[in-house]
Parts: sequence; C-alpha cells; structure tokens
Amino acid sequence: MKPLIVKLGGSVITNKRRRFTVKRATLTRLARELSAAKGPLVIVHGGGSFGHPVASKYGIAGGYKSKDQLMGLSLTHRAMERLNAHVIEALQKASLPAIAVQPSACAVVSGGRIQSMELAPIQKMLALGLVPVLYGDAVPDLSKGMSILSGDQLVAQLACELGTKRVILGVDVDGVYTVNPKTNKNAELIQEISLSNWPLVEKRLTGVVEERDVTGGIANKMCELLALVERGVEAEIVNAAKPNILRRAILGERGLGTRVVAR
Ligand code: ADP
Repeated sequence: MKPLIVKLGGSVITNKRRRFTVKRATLTRLARELSAAKGPLVIVHGGGSFGHPVASKYGIAGGYKSKDQLMGLSLTHRAMERLNAHVIEALQKASLPAIAVQPSACAVVSGGRIQSMELAPIQKMLALGLVPVLYGDAVPDLSKGMSILSGDQLVAQLACELGTKRVILGVDVDGVYTVNPKTNKNAELIQEISLSNWPLVEKRLTGVVEERDVTGGIANKMCELLALVERGVEAEIVNAAKPNILRRAILGERGLGTRVVAR
C-alpha cells in the first residue's frame, strides 16, 4: 500500500507571531486526527515561527555569502529540530510510532532543488509500520552553498518517489484564496486549481510573499503541487486549524478545501 502524505503547515502548528511558540492544543488534536489513518503515513511539517525567522535573519535561502551563515544554518536546523521534537511527542502520545527523519542528511540539494534523496530507510520504516516525520530544513546546497528545502518540496519529492496517490496539506485557512484571507476580507476561496486554470489563478494571486516566509509563500506551494498532479497524484489544501477537517480528508473525503487537479 502506498503511503498517504500529510503536511502540517507551520501556520497551523505554531503561533507565527510569537517566536518558538507551538500551538500545543492544536498539535495534540491533530496528532489524534492523524491516528485515524488506515494505511501507511508520512508526515511533513513546516517551520512557522521556528525555522523562518532564524533562516531569514541569516539569509540562508539566498545561499552562502559569509561565514556567519554557518551558525545561521546550524541555528535554523536546531530550531526545526526543536519543533520536530514537539510534533514527534504529540504523535507518540496519540499512539503513532513516529520517527524523525532529517532532510538535510538525506536529500542532495542543488540550486534549492532536490537532486536525489536516500529513501531506503524511509521505505523500511514504512514497511515496518513506523511513521516518518520530515520537516522544512536548512540544507547544504551543491551550487549555492546552502539553501532552504521547503516542506512543500519535500512533500512533492516524497510523493513522486514513494508512489503516493494523494497528498493533503493542512494550513490555517480554508484553502487557497485569491489573496491572503487574513489580510484581505475580499479574498475568495478557489475550490479547484488545475494545470489549465493556473495561469489565470496565478495572476489573481496578488498577495505579496509574507515578510518572514523563506519558502516563497502560496504560489510556490502551488507550483510544487501542480508538478505533482501532472504525474497523477491528487492534492488538497484543507483547513487543519478547524477540528476534524484533516481527519475527514485523511479518511477519504474530498472537496473540503482547495483541490489541485491535473485537468
Ligand atoms: P505553511 O502553513 O505551510 O507554513 P504558509 O504559512 O506559507 O504555509 O501558508 C499558509 C498561509 O498562507 C496562511 O496562513 C495564509 O494566511 C497565507 N496566505 C497568503 N496568501 C494566501 C492565499 N492566497 N491563499 C491562502 N493562504 C494564503
């Protein structure tokens, strides 16, 4: 059975306005919802108020320019490990045998893109019934020296390589909107994004990338997902901040947020 891949957005599990703050109750609830999965599961989480501010301070996404960025990479990675430890603990409390997988130690990245990834350990973990948990990470980069490997890119890579049929991205809004719904009350929810309507949708996505988002925001997320659906994978962005939406999506319900489809 192919694994389902679920991403927990940094916006859902952390308080983006307060550094290094986990939304503990939400994480506990989401861990319970994830435990409803019937088959193998891979979890990826974003950085929220852990990874983004540190990576941004040291300009990690722009590549290696000066020596102080080495400490920046180290600190960004450590911040992500700290968030990851919270996620793993919550999953364990929900009886999921979660195990951390360090992306910077198994992905070969060049120009910010994964060139290859060692997946044998992850495949064995899945075969055993373990739940691998990866996260957006600061990584060594073959051409830029260093870069940020986003959780979204990891989701796409893992889905392709593991033969996943469906990925679910949990964020803290109802899906993808024409503009950021948190800052614009005229934002309209887009129910379906496809390869054919994307050029139009992209033009309507007027919001600027969030100041502290080192992974390029919602448009980048879409590009990753569109490349994925082109290969026959289903993707959906749902509101994981609302109780039971993620659980329902995991159990197979469609149409709970924005669907990303090929047609
Ligand atoms: P993650 O939660 O994976 O870290 P982001 O924080 O980058 O991902 O994406 C989710 C956030 O994106 C939401 O909190 C929302 O406020 C913001 N956002 C910006 N523009 C949009 C948009 N057009 N549609 C939906 N969300 C948007």
